[in-house]
This record gives sequence, C-alpha cells and structure tokens, in this order.
Amino acid sequence: MEVYLDNNATTMVDPEVYKAMEPFFCTIYGNPNSLHKFGAGTHPKMVEALDYLYAGINAADEDDIIITANATESNNAVLKGIWVDNILNGNKNHIITSEVEHPSITAVCKFLETQGVSVTYLPVNEDGVLEASSVKEFIKEDTALVSIMWANNETGKLFPIREIGAICKEAGVAFHTDATQAIGKVPVDVQDCNVDYLSFSAHKFHGPKGVGGLYVKAKKALTPLLHGGEQMGGHRAGTVDVPSMVGMGLAMHLATKPEALAFENTEVKRLRDKLENAILEIPETIVIGGKENRTPNTTLISIRGVEGESMLWDMNQKTIGASTGSACASEDLEANPVMNAFGSDSELAHTGVRFSLSRFTTEEQIDYAIEVVKNAVNRLRNISSSYAYTPKNHESQL
Ligand code: PMP
Repeated sequence: MEVYLDNNATTMVDPEVYKAMEPFFCTIYGNPNSLHKFGAGTHPKMVEALDYLYAGINAADEDDIIITANATESNNAVLKGIWVDNILNGNKNHIITSEVEHPSITAVCKFLETQGVSVTYLPVNEDGVLEASSVKEFIKEDTALVSIMWANNETGKLFPIREIGAICKEAGVAFHTDATQAIGKVPVDVQDCNVDYLSFSAHKFHGPKGVGGLYVKAKKALTPLLHGGEQMGGHRAGTVDVPSMVGMGLAMHLATKPEALAFENTEVKRLRDKLENAILEIPETIVIGGKENRTPNTTLISIRGVEGESMLWDMNQKTIGASTGSACASEDLEANPVMNAFGSDSELAHTGVRFSLSRFTTEEQIDYAIEVVKNAVNRLRNISSSYAYTPKNHESQL
C-alpha cells in the first residue's frame, strides 16, 4: 500500500481541478490580453477563478489578488516591495517577523539585513506559539512591516493572527501573513483579521504547482517584483498562466467551502489524532509544540533515540512518505531549526518526524502507517547504540 503523509510539502491535484484545467491547454489557449475571441474566451473562467479566490479568504471587492508563481514569489514581492516603498524611499527601516517562518521569508529578511534593514525575529515559546503581545512590544516608530505566518509548516501551530492584525492596525503598521499552510485547513478571513497582505500557494490545497497568490488590501500600493506588461493591473507583469489560475481558483473553492473545512476539522483531524495517539503509545515520544491550536492535518512527533532521517528511510521502504521537516530544508542533516526555536534539546531536535494528512487520506492508510511506524521504531531503537530505554527515561517524559 502506498501512503502519502507529506501533504504540507505538496498535495495531489484534485482530479476535479485537473479536469477543469484541461481545456485551457489545447482548446481555449488564447492570451487573455489579446483582443480577439481566442483571448476573450479565457475570461469567464478567469473571472470565476478570481471570484473563488476572493471568497476563499473573504477579500473585499475593492482589494486585489495578484496571481503569482507560488508563495515564495508572493513573500518576496511583499518584503521587497515594502523595502522599496518604505525603507529605501522613506525613513522606516524595520521589519518584525518570527524565528519560525518559512525560508521564503527568513532568507529574504537575511538579504534585506545585508542592505541595512533592521529585522526583529520574534521567538516562539515551548508550545511553538508566538505571543501577540511581543509584536506590540517590538513595534517602533520606524517599523514598516510585521510579517507573521498564519500556520507553521512543521508543527501546524496556529499563530494569533487576529490579535496581531488588531495590534498592527492600531499602530498603523502594515501586516503581512504567509497563509500557505492555513488555506483549506482553517478559516482564513483577511477582513476579520485586519490583514494587509497575504500569501498562498495552490499546490498546498490540491491545486497545481507553480501558481500562487498575493492578496493586497485596497489602497495598499506595492512596487511590483516583476515589471513589464500591464497584466494583473500592472502589479505583476508576464502572461498569466491561465490553466493554473483556473485550477487554483477551483482548488480554493473546493478547499475552503464550509463543508470542506468542516470535513478537515472532523474527519482529517480524526485520522491525524488516531495516528498520533497510536505513536504516542510508544514510550518517549512527544508532540512537538503540544496538541493545542494546530491545523487539523499535521503532527510533528519526536521519537527519542530515533533519527528522523532513519525513520523516513524505514518508512520509505514500506512506501510511506513523510518528512523530517520542510522539504525545502531536508537535503541537509542540520537539526530542524523550528525544533531548535522551540527550545528542544539538541538530541530531540534530530528526531522529529512530520506527518501531514489530506482529505484524500484513508483509514486503511493510517492503520497501515501505524503498524509500519511501530515496527520501524522497534527496529531502530534495537540497533541504536545511544538509546537505552529505562523506566526512568519513560518517567522523564510523562
Ligand atoms: N510558506 C510556507 C509556510 C510553506 O510551507 C511553503 C512551502 N513549503 C512556502 C511558503 C513556499 O511555497 P512554494 O514552494 O509553493 O513557493
């Protein structure tokens, strides 16, 4: 049996989405900016896609949603746009973010620091959560942007976005959130949370790879990352990838309609909890960041004495795909930076395994995964020279 439990890395395209995209390759292939009927033929489905995107995050009609290549581009566009608009041009020189953002935020911040920008990286507590009050504490006269993720990709931990949005609004500071791991898992409402900029990637919610979006609140101008043609109202140049945009729109609709979010919060969560509880029956295993306040599909579990990479290898032999952390960081064997940020001890930092489910995960797959994980832990602990289970070890984690 093949079991894919790495849906935070990417998801299968929903077959309904794939079907909706197909006509836009060989049949309705005009350039949407062409004035003839071939171009115009693409418009109705593009408009429908935009409607779905607006509804999915509760954007207001006057707001913008720019189609990008992915969340990486959306994140770069916000941070670099703010840099050009507020930092290079004005007297603001400060950005606030967290220590556990995706590299498409932190690497841009590191780059901006080389350009003289001052960046505050807020730490998370042992529950993997950032306190909204710490954002308030660090906002200064020259703070141009607060950028805090909606949900963490490793742990699924949800950040206090509504509180942070209110703090930023009151302080008059622009607020960006990377909602890549939140869309389709929990309700995302830009108006309710006073969000100014929001990033997402279609392939995380059963849409195609290579397309994403950037929400920009009305009147929040942003210098574009890509200059060129007048596509996207001049906000992002380049011929729009129509099949991908159509696919992303439908994927957003299918993932964010109330019944889909309810399914996520009941059925997907039930299967996640079943897997998690079964693994927690193994001595000396813990859920990193704890069980509260997470996306319903994710668990990051530390198994003492078992290297995360070894677990992945064993599971892969049994055709189960999971992850030790984000795929973007998995080529090196560095300790997981998110686990370090939580203050995990250095041994535990190498033992995290992330399981991320989707609405396509089945009960049979979870039953099989439980059996494989238990056998793998037994085998790896037996051959581990450093792991010796004693009741004392066990007690220390209760
Ligand atoms: N932000 C978060 C929180 C993510 O999990 C990811 C993907 N792992 C990204 C941004 C980047 O997405 P993409 O690779 O589609 O640009």
